[in-house]
Amino acid sequence: MLSIFFSFMVMLEHYFTCPYCWESISMLLDNSISKQTYIEDCEVCCNPIQVSSHFLNYELIAFQANSIEQ
Ligand SMILES: [Zn+2]
Repeated sequence: MLSIFFSFMVMLEHYFTCPYCWESISMLLDNSISKQTYIEDCEVCCNPIQVSSHFLNYELIAFQANSIEQ
C-alpha cells in the first residue's frame, strides 16, 4: 500500500499484530481524536478486532488491539 502524503497530517498508519491470525497488519488512525475505540475487521483473516487508540498532542501514546468474545 502506498502512503498518501496529503493525508499524513490527520491519519497515522499504525502496524500491529492481529490477535486472531498473528499477521502483521496496518490500520489508519485519526490523530485528531484523542481517545477512541472502534471495531475494524482484520484485512487478512476478516475477524473483528476491537481497536483502542489514545493520542496526546497528535502523538500515539497508547494502542490496543483485542479480539472480541463471540
Ligand atoms: Zn487476522
